Amino acid sequence: MGTKKDIWVFGDYRNYFQNRVTLQILSRAVYLSTKTGGNVCAVVFGHKVDEYVAEYIAHGAQKVYVIDHPNLKSYSIETYSWLMTWLVKEYRPETLLVGATRFGQETAPRMAKQLKTGLTADCIDLDIDEKGRLVQIAPSFGGNLVAKIITPSQRPQMATIRPGTFHEQPHDIEAKGDIIYLELPKELPRDKIKLVQSKHKPYKKQKIEEADIVICGGRGMGSKRKFKKLFDLAKLMNAEVGATRPVVYSEWVPHDSLIGQAGKNVKPKILLSFGISGAIQHTAAITDADFIIAINKNPNATLMKMADVAIVADANQACLGIIKAIKEKIRD
Ligand SMILES: Cc1cc2nc3c(=O)[nH]c(=O)nc-3n(C[C@H](O)[C@H](O)[C@H](O)COP(=O)(O)OP(=O)(O)OC[C@H]3O[C@@H](n4cnc5c(N)ncnc54)[C@H](O)[C@@H]3O)c2cc1C
Repeated sequence: MGTKKDIWVFGDYRNYFQNRVTLQILSRAVYLSTKTGGNVCAVVFGHKVDEYVAEYIAHGAQKVYVIDHPNLKSYSIETYSWLMTWLVKEYRPETLLVGATRFGQETAPRMAKQLKTGLTADCIDLDIDEKGRLVQIAPSFGGNLVAKIITPSQRPQMATIRPGTFHEQPHDIEAKGDIIYLELPKELPRDKIKLVQSKHKPYKKQKIEEADIVICGGRGMGSKRKFKKLFDLAKLMNAEVGATRPVVYSEWVPHDSLIGQAGKNVKPKILLSFGISGAIQHTAAITDADFIIAINKNPNATLMKMADVAIVADANQACLGIIKAIKEKIRD
């Protein structure tokens, strides 16, 4: 069907306005396709999905495969995995990329199993090697190494990518793309899971992955009480607060604040880091920050070496000092 070199991106539009992972992956797929040829395609399942289809075209998709049916109104792991497997067997794309959202993390391994191919989870980068194969770059061996993984023989080459890993392309209102509407196949198996109710979780004003200023605290903040001061600072700076694993494990903040290999990637204009050593599992997720200010009592901490500005100080005292200085500025 002439789609052999195509790169497919699973259209994950749940929580669309907060989560733009599909647009971010499409942007990387456009770059990859310049090296391989072939089309960048999005695949969308659902009901009344035209606005997402248009959005994907405006963000780089040259083709969009759509199955629009009332039975697909709710996301279903089983149904969506089955449909994607069916389509991949039909059209044989070279590569299939899926956002590592909660849904993507559940559905991508199922697709890979059904397609008898490999899957690299939580890639931090993607590229193409000299033989035109997808290089899937991901932390491995407990995060101690960054591995470059290829899929030598099986197809499609599959990877999941966490929200915030890539930057989306600007919306191009002039962009044109082909839309291929497909019928819901009759042989679709009956879903074993019945959705009883679906509720939106209240979300924060802005997502940490998209925040311009991120304040990140580590074990060096000392205690839950002291850590709370970072939220006071964040309010003054219109910033979002993230944390390292020891902080999350100590339950100073909820798990969704975790920045790192097991959590979220950030790409702020300014990152303020308080009392963080700089383990690779954490720093892998902050490499896209434009400007890093690190505060640590140890000048030799890895993050202090990596920072644009390194301040040797007690993290808690520094936080209180900045709050005081900003409040004085506001009063002036
Ligand atoms: C498979 C795996 C996945 C992981 N995933 C993640 C992940 O997603 N995110 C993550 O963060 N970690 C992750 N980790 C853990 C990671 O390896 C580190 O243990 C963790 O990032 C360290 O957090 P930290 O910097 O807060 O603590 P520490 O390494 O203990 O560092 C604390 C720092 O605070 C400084 N400090 C102490 N007191 C003060 C003070 N009063 N004032 C100023 N500075 C002070 C110290 O000098 C030190 O540099 C993972 C580990 C594994 C094995």
